[in-house]
Amino acid sequence: MSRDRHTIPTPTFRWITAAALCLAAILAGGCRTAESGHISRMESLVRTVGPAEEAFVLGAGIISRESWSWQAPIVERLTPMGTICRMTIHHTAGEMTPGEGVGEVKDRLRRIQSEHEERMNAGDIGYHFIIDGAGRVWEGRSLSWQGAHAGNGAANAGNIGIAVMGDFDIEDVPPAQAAALRELVERASAAYGIGAAEIYTHREMKAMYSLEETTCPGARLQRIMDEMRRELAAKEKRPAR
Ligand SMILES: [Zn+2]
Repeated sequence: MSRDRHTIPTPTFRWITAAALCLAAILAGGCRTAESGHISRMESLVRTVGPAEEAFVLGAGIISRESWSWQAPIVERLTPMGTICRMTIHHTAGEMTPGEGVGEVKDRLRRIQSEHEERMNAGDIGYHFIIDGAGRVWEGRSLSWQGAHAGNGAANAGNIGIAVMGDFDIEDVPPAQAAALRELVERASAAYGIGAAEIYTHREMKAMYSLEETTCPGARLQRIMDEMRRELAAKEKRPAR
């Protein structure tokens, strides 16, 4: 199945998650998180939410969460993001949306938000950004909160979640949508110092954390990401002038 399933740890395994977060911080090359104990929750919030984040969101032409969500995040279910150091690309595994207007996409976002809150006990929609079929970029969960998209708490630590609407195991990524994804990935990389090696697809994250396999983000978007990362890595290697 290509459905983009996500899981959250039960309270019983919280200590395992905490230990895994420390390991994740090491594996991620200095990716420090609030849960790793290096940064207090309040310090993390102050560090993450500020003019830099606001400028990134506005500069990227992203449509605000307030424009579509009818409800506030359920804060008691959320974890501060801590230091951002990587990102993960998903597809929603839903129907394609190229012809959908803004109102239809807002309805779709609210359905995803409800599903994540009910099925995963999440505090908000799990992704930080969602790109619709026309290439519009929507703000999901605030970047000040850790996402619920990669598979578990360790995988979500410091990890920006970007979802591309559609099922790319069976359909092509429309050019406008692919271009918007490329622009968002490059902006986020520049804003948070994320190298090509820290840009993952969901199937790669699942494999890295030995979680249940997924085909997310679909074979066709996976190919686009493979190519995009090759290009970004080549740019990184180019000597500075
Ligand atoms: Zn996914």
